[in-house]
Amino acid sequence: TSTVLDDLFGEAQAERETIVSVLVPVAVPTAYTYKVPAGAHVQPGTIVQVPLGSRQVLGCVWDGAPDAAINPKKLKSISRVYDKARPLLPDLRRFVEWVANWTLAAPGMVLRMVLRSEEALEDEPPLAAVRRIEGAAPDRMTPARAKVLDTLSDGMAWTRSGLAGAAGVSASVIDGLLAQGVLEPVLLPGTPPTPKPDPDFAHVDLTPAQAEVAASLRAAFERGNAVSLIDGVTGSGKTEVYFEAIAEALKRGRQALVLLPEIALTEQFLRRFEKRFGTFPAEWHSEITPKKRARTWRGVASGDVRVVIGARSALFLPFEDLGLIIVDEEHDAAFKQDDRVPYSARDMAVVRGHLSRFPVVLASATPSVESRVNAEQGRYARYVLPERASGAELPEIRAIDMRQEGPERGRWLAPELLKAIAQTFAEGSQSLLFLNRRGYAPLTLCRTCGHRFQCPHCSAWLVEHRFQGRLVCHHCGHFEKMPETCPTCSSTQSLVACGPGVERVAEEVQDLFPQARTLILSSDLPGGAERMKREMKLVEDGEADIVIGTQLVAKGHNFPKMKLVGVVDADLGLAHGDPRAAEKTFQLLAQVTGRAGRVTGGGRGFLQTYSPEHPVLKALLDQDRDAFYRMEIEARQAAGLPPFGRMAALILSGPDKAAAEGFARALVRAAPADRSVTVLGPAEAALAMVRGRHRYRLLLIAPRQFDLQGYLRHWLANGPRPTGALRLQVDIDPQHF
Ligand code: ADP
Ligand code: ZN
Ligand code: ZN
Repeated sequence: TSTVLDDLFGEAQAERETIVSVLVPVAVPTAYTYKVPAGAHVQPGTIVQVPLGSRQVLGCVWDGAPDAAINPKKLKSISRVYDKARPLLPDLRRFVEWVANWTLAAPGMVLRMVLRSEEALEDEPPLAAVRRIEGAAPDRMTPARAKVLDTLSDGMAWTRSGLAGAAGVSASVIDGLLAQGVLEPVLLPGTPPTPKPDPDFAHVDLTPAQAEVAASLRAAFERGNAVSLIDGVTGSGKTEVYFEAIAEALKRGRQALVLLPEIALTEQFLRRFEKRFGTFPAEWHSEITPKKRARTWRGVASGDVRVVIGARSALFLPFEDLGLIIVDEEHDAAFKQDDRVPYSARDMAVVRGHLSRFPVVLASATPSVESRVNAEQGRYARYVLPERASGAELPEIRAIDMRQEGPERGRWLAPELLKAIAQTFAEGSQSLLFLNRRGYAPLTLCRTCGHRFQCPHCSAWLVEHRFQGRLVCHHCGHFEKMPETCPTCSSTQSLVACGPGVERVAEEVQDLFPQARTLILSSDLPGGAERMKREMKLVEDGEADIVIGTQLVAKGHNFPKMKLVGVVDADLGLAHGDPRAAEKTFQLLAQVTGRAGRVTGGGRGFLQTYSPEHPVLKALLDQDRDAFYRMEIEARQAAGLPPFGRMAALILSGPDKAAAEGFARALVRAAPADRSVTVLGPAEAALAMVRGRHRYRLLLIAPRQFDLQGYLRHWLANGPRPTGALRLQVDIDPQHF
C-alpha cells in the first residue's frame, strides 16, 4: 500500500537502504545478504525472519560485510525483526563460528542449535492468575476454602495451580470460589521472576581433601580460562565440590551451566541442588515442554535464570553472562553428538570457556584418556579425590571365572553371585545386576532350520522384547510381533532365544528370589523419562531389592542402600575391535561397581568373565586406576592414536550399495597426497546398513599438530560431490575409531 509520500520519496529511500549479512539455519557455507526494511533497526546478533526460497526462516544478523556486489534489485528484505528478543552476543556468535570451523559443519547448522525455541522470540504471553475480591465472602465456608482465602490474605495474585499447591487444596476449590465471585481472574505480565539460587543457603562441611579442591576451583576464577579436572573415585563428593564453584560463580554475579550426560540423572541432581542453593536450577533437555523451553531460553538471555542444568544442547543457550561450565561424568560418550553437527559437548565446553575466558570444570571417577593426558601435559589442572566422602571403603571386587564356576545350563548367574545376592537380600540391602543388553535375548533363531531374525532396514539382528511380545531393531526402531512359527520352515515351537538380555536375567532372578522386589532399569521401557525418574527414585529410596539394569544405571547415581553389584558379562565390551573398547569397558565397569556401598561401605562387586586375566579386568580387580591409564596411554602413544594423534571419519551413505561404495572409492582417489595423513578405507561401517542406507567409512589419522580440518576442507572442495541420495558426513574426533 503505497502512499503519495512513498512515491515522492521512494528514490531517496532506496538510496539510504542498508544491506546486512544474515546467517540462516541451513547447510550453506556462508551468510546471505538481505535488505533492511526502512525504519527497522538491526545490529549484528539481531534475530530476524527472512525469505529463503519459498519459505520464511529464522536467521541472525551476522558479523562481516554483506555482499555489496549483488544487484540490489535482486536482494530480498528482512521480513521481520524480533525486537523483543535479545540479540545474540558477540561471544556466542564467535562460538558458533568456532564450532562450525572445527566440525566442518555449515555455520547455519550450528546457529540452528542456538535458535531452538521459536516461541522464545515472542513476547511472553500474559499469565492467567486469580486474586481475591475485597470484601467478598463465599456462601459457605469450608476448611479448604478457608485455606485458599488465608493464602490470599496479603492481596497478592496467584496462578490457579500455584495457589492450589500453596493452599494444599484441589484446583476445583479455586474454581468454586471464582464461580461465586469471591475470586476474580487477572492477567499478570509474563512469568514471575525465577527465584535466585542462594550461594549461602546451606552449608556443607567439606572434608579437608574436598575443601582443598573447592578452594582451587574458586581460585580458577581469577585465572580466567582455566580448565580443571576433578578426578575423584565414585562417592568422593565431586558434586559437593563443584557446587562450591557454582556458589563462587553466583557470588561473582555470573551464570553457571552444568552438563549431565543423561536425563535420568537430572531428577536426583535437582533435589541436591535445591538442598544446597534453596531453589531449583532451570532444566534444558529434549523432554521439557515447549513452553518451559521458551521460558528458559528467554530467562537465560535476560539473565533472570542463573543456573542451568542440561544435556549437551544447553551449551548453545544464549547466556547473558556465563561464567562457569561444569561437565559432570565428562568421560561419557553421550556428550558426543553423532548426527547433524557431530561435536563433543565436553570439548566444545572447554572452547566456550576459552573464548569467553571463564573456568570449566570436568568431573569424573573415570576420566577420559584425553582429559587425563591433557592434565598430564599441563593443559588442565587435575585434582584427585582418592577416598569416598562418607569414609566408606571402595567395594571389594572379585572375578567369577565362568569357565570353572559358571551357572548351570540355560542360566546366567553363577552360584557364587547368587549366594551373594541371597545374603544381601537377607540383610535388607540392595543388589544390582548389570548387563548392557536391552530386551530378552540378543538373537532369536529357529532350531529346525537355523533361520535368524534380521532387521529389514539394518544389518542387525532383531532383539526379542518379551514383555512387549515383539522383535525390535535397536538401530532404527523397526518392530514386529513375535511370531509363533518360523517364517522359513513353518515349524512351531522351534524358535529359541540365544543369550541373555536384562529381561531374561530378571526372569531368572524372579524365579530364584520370588519374595524379592525386582525392577528392570532400561532406557527403552514404556513410560519414557517420567517412568525412569520414578523408578530411579524407587531404587534410591530402597523400594526395590534387586535391580537389573543396562548402562543407564552406571551413570553417576547415588543409591545409598546398594551393597552388591554383579556384572553379568564383563567381557561384553572387550570383544569389540574398536581401540576405544578397553577405555569404555574400564569406565563402564568401574562406574557400575562403584554403585556398591557408597555410603555405608562394605560394598562388593562381582565380574562374571571368561578372561579374568585380561588387563582391563585385572586393573579393576586390583583397584588400580592408575595402572589402567598408564597402560592405555602408552598403547595410544605407541600407535599414534588420540589424543597423541588426530582422527576424522567420513561416512558415505546412500540407499544404493554400489553407488555409496563407488562414491567412497572416488573420494579416496581424490585425496590430496600428504605424507602426514593416513587415509584408511573405504570399509563398510560397523553397522553396514542403517534405516535402509548403506554406509561406508573412511578414517583419517594424522599427527597431533596436523591441520586436519584444513586438509579435509581442501579435499572436499576439490573432490567429487555427493549427488542425489548420497550423503557425506564428516566426524572430527570420532568416538569409534
Ligand atoms: P560423586 O559425585 O563423587 O560420586 P557425590 O557428590 O554424589 O559423589 O557424593 C556421594 C555421597 O556423599 C552423597 O550422598 C553426598 O551427599 C555425600 N557427601 C559428599 N561430600 C560430603 C561431605 N563433605 N559431608 C557429608 N556428606 C558428603
Ligand atoms: Zn525354521
Ligand atoms: Zn533396523
